[in-house]
Amino acid sequence: MARVIAVVNQKGGVGKSTTALNVSAYMASFGKRTLLVDTDPQGNASSGIGIEKDALKYSIYDSIIDEVPLTSVIQKTIIPGLDIVPATLKLAGAEVELVSALSRETRLAACLEPVLGDYDFVFIDCPPSLGLLTINALVAANSLLIPVQCEYYALEGLRQLLDTIELVRRHLNRSLVIEGFLMTMHDSRTNLSQQVVEDVKNHYGSKVFRTVIPRNVTLSEAPSFGLPIIRYDPKSRGALAYEELAKEVLERGEEKTGQRIGRPDSWR
Ligand code: ADP
Ligand code: MG
Repeated sequence: MARVIAVVNQKGGVGKSTTALNVSAYMASFGKRTLLVDTDPQGNASSGIGIEKDALKYSIYDSIIDEVPLTSVIQKTIIPGLDIVPATLKLAGAEVELVSALSRETRLAACLEPVLGDYDFVFIDCPPSLGLLTINALVAANSLLIPVQCEYYALEGLRQLLDTIELVRRHLNRSLVIEGFLMTMHDSRTNLSQQVVEDVKNHYGSKVFRTVIPRNVTLSEAPSFGLPIIRYDPKSRGALAYEELAKEVLERGEEKTGQRIGRPDSWR
């Protein structure tokens, strides 16, 4: 049965898609059967792995809204062992259409259920909002990977995210846990980056991944070639960091450290 990990943060530009895409590629390279699910209408994870969105017959929209089986939507990628459920701009409509739909929060979980036995890992790339698409991801997930950009306002917004997670946990997905907070775009030349890492560690302790993702230009170049970093430049610092992160996610699974998140008050 797959472990389903959603990569979530309602802030845009914090490294969600970069993380979902690259950690998926490394998991597959370790021999884990991996599915990357793109739930962002921007489709950055899809194009970043080389999917030609215009050529698609189906995308995740068709599964969530029109109940097309996920097996008809899943595409192979250039990485052996890594499949993807792509997203296109059409998905923007789903956010609105879901509002009046039946079982609107559990659609994605229902779509995924029949394929969970085919994979070891499912990574869900979330859109930059706390709308119904993100809620669907929180309901479908076993755990959450939360990228936090190393910048001054890093902690801002996390409170609201954690409150939402707690609501989902209480009403829709009791077993949801936090896999970890991932510090991204770390710049070792600035004190600020280090300060932000310390702040987040003070707040969230051992829930912060040991691996820190450096700011590394190769990570931002790779998507324009439709390549994950493992193919674009596997020796770059960004590549080594994502390889390390994938190993850490594997370790955490083995240790079963995914404890339940506490009440929101305990996260202050
Ligand atoms: P999100 O999905 O949270 O909106 P992205 O993963 O798309 O964020 O990242 C935002 C931008 O920053 C993208 O252009 C991406 O290529 C770039 N980027 C992400 N992580 C890094 C990094 N560690 N170093 C340099 N650029 C990065
Ligand atoms: Mg994104």
